[in-house]
Amino acid sequence: MYQELKEAAYLANMTIARSGLIPVDSTWGNASQCDRQAGVMAIKPSGVDYSLLTVKDMVVVDLATGQVVEGRLRPSSDTPTHLELYRAFPEIGGVAHTHSRWATIFAQSRRDIPPYGTTHADTFYGAVPCVPALSQEQVEGDYEGNTGRVMAAHCQNTYNQVPAALAAGHGPFTWGANAAKAVENAITLEECAAMAYHSIQLGAPLLEQYVLDKHYSRKHGPKAYYGQK
Ligand SMILES: [Zn+2]
Repeated sequence: MYQELKEAAYLANMTIARSGLIPVDSTWGNASQCDRQAGVMAIKPSGVDYSLLTVKDMVVVDLATGQVVEGRLRPSSDTPTHLELYRAFPEIGGVAHTHSRWATIFAQSRRDIPPYGTTHADTFYGAVPCVPALSQEQVEGDYEGNTGRVMAAHCQNTYNQVPAALAAGHGPFTWGANAAKAVENAITLEECAAMAYHSIQLGAPLLEQYVLDKHYSRKHGPKAYYGQK
């Protein structure tokens, strides 16, 4: 069952492996896609080498209960984080997590990634936030679930306009309409983070608000005109 969902999740995970977002031969990162009607998501299994990964290895998890409903492997250890994001953000269909270098440097520095250019504005309508760090109690309790809850609470009003956040001292999470879009946003975020780091070194000014408005609105929303019909 859930063949299409598992294929979509599989392809998105393989894109992470090929994207340069994670070290070669690492098992870092994970992507998932959800099916709102079925009330489930498909996610990468925990700690499996990408070169050995297959569609049937994807683990299907109930969105409400977190129970595995299909699959013989254990789901990614970040599964509770993905679940919290799906529960809090009703309009998303995919989530991706990496430890891509530049975005993670901002996460470790507890800094937002400010918008310095149109590359950023095309996808993120404003700064990508670094969310508050977890307390010791939150870490020692339901760590992965709390990672998702803190991010969800911080981004509740902006998640549609800024489909990414940095978990403090940890790394980036991105989301989108499906798993492929979430991974695409992770790739864009990494490039924006690298550019922002160097722009800060050169003393770049923030992008003018009206340019941010223009670039975001021409690709998103009711008046979008970028690309093909
Ligand atoms: Zn992580």
